Amino acid sequence: MINHENALNLLNSTSTTEILENLLNLSKLDDTNNGNKGNKGNSKTITYSKNAFIPVCTWCRNICGYCTFREENYTLLTKEQMKETLREADKYNCHEALFTFGENVDENPKIMEELNKMGYNNIIEYLYDIEEWCLNNTDLLPHTNCGILTYEELKTLREVNASMGLMLENSSSRLCKTIAHKDSIGKLPKTRIEMMENAGKLKIPFTTGILIGIGETKEELINSIFEINRINEKYGNIQEVIIQNFRAKKGIPMENYPEPTPIEILKTIILSRMILKDISVQVPPNLNKETGQLLLLAGIDDWGGVSPITKDFVNPEAPWPEIEELEMFSRELGYKLVERLPVYEKYINNEWLDDRLFKKIQDIKRKK
Ligand code: SF4
Repeated sequence: MINHENALNLLNSTSTTEILENLLNLSKLDDTNNGNKGNKGNSKTITYSKNAFIPVCTWCRNICGYCTFREENYTLLTKEQMKETLREADKYNCHEALFTFGENVDENPKIMEELNKMGYNNIIEYLYDIEEWCLNNTDLLPHTNCGILTYEELKTLREVNASMGLMLENSSSRLCKTIAHKDSIGKLPKTRIEMMENAGKLKIPFTTGILIGIGETKEELINSIFEINRINEKYGNIQEVIIQNFRAKKGIPMENYPEPTPIEILKTIILSRMILKDISVQVPPNLNKETGQLLLLAGIDDWGGVSPITKDFVNPEAPWPEIEELEMFSRELGYKLVERLPVYEKYINNEWLDDRLFKKIQDIKRKK
C-alpha cells in the first residue's frame, strides 16, 4: 500500500506524466481489485444501485456551510407519502430505498410533537415502522443514512436495513472551527468514527465517504482515507467509499468557495484506489458529468444510487443521468454496467444480515 509520504507527493504532483503513469498502473491492477471486492466476477465492470430517495425529514441539528438539504421550515413526510414513492419505485424494479434525514431531528420540539401525534416516541420508531412496511410490501431494501446514531439505535435499525451509511467527510477536527462545520456539533470526527466502529461491532455493512474541497489540507485528506481503511481493516464492514466533491451552490454560506478542480478529484480517486484495496470506490455521476469517464479510468468501480423516479435531494440542481446514458457512458470505455443491491455480495450471509433481510434478498435474487 502507498505510504503517507508518497500519497502526499502524488497529491502535490503537477506532473502530467506522473499522473498518467499512476493511471496506467491502476488499470493493470484492475482485475485483481475487482476480484478482491467480491462483487464482480470479472474485470471491467462498474456497478450502480437502482434506488428511490426518501427524504424523511429535512430538518437537522447541524448547519453545515455547504448544505442545501436542511430547511428550518422543514418537511416531515407522512407514511402515506413514503409508501406512495416506495410503491412507484417497486414498479420500476428499484431495489434500494435510501431513507435519509437530518441529524437528531428529535431535538426539534415541533417535530417531536408531530411524531407523538402519530403515535411515535421518536424518529427511530417512525423510521423502523416505515422500513418494516417497505420490507413486507415491496422488493426494495432499506438503507438508512441519517447522521449520528447510537449503538442501540444502530442495533435496532439493523433488523430492517440491508446496509447503513454515514459520511466521515474528513477526520480532522480542525474543520469544526471553520465555515464548513463550525455550527455542526455532529461533524466532530471522533463521534463519526465511533459510529462507524459501532456499525463494525454490530456487523452492519457500511457506506461512508469523504467530502473534498471543504477547506481540508492535503494531509487531512490523506489521513481521512487512511482512517477509513483502518476501520475496515479492524472490522471489515466498509463496503464502499464515496468520493464526493464540494459544489458551490447559490445561497449557501460557502457559495463563493472554490470547488475542487477535476485534477484534484482525479488524484484523490487514484489515491483512494491505492489505499482502499478491497473497498469499492464510488463517485456520484450527477456531480461529475464531464469527467466521469476519466474517473472511471482512475479506478472508481461504482456509480452509487441512481434513481429513475426521485431526484437527488442533497444535490437537487444535479439531475441523475438516465440509466441508459450511464450504460453507454461506461460501455464506451469497455466497462459493463451492472446493477447491484444496496448490500454488496460479500456481505450477503447470516453473519452480516438479520435473518429476515437475508431471506428477503434470496427472494429478490430468485425473481431477478
Ligand atoms: S449534517 Fe447533513 S443535513 Fe445536516 S446540515 Fe450538515 S450536510 Fe446538511
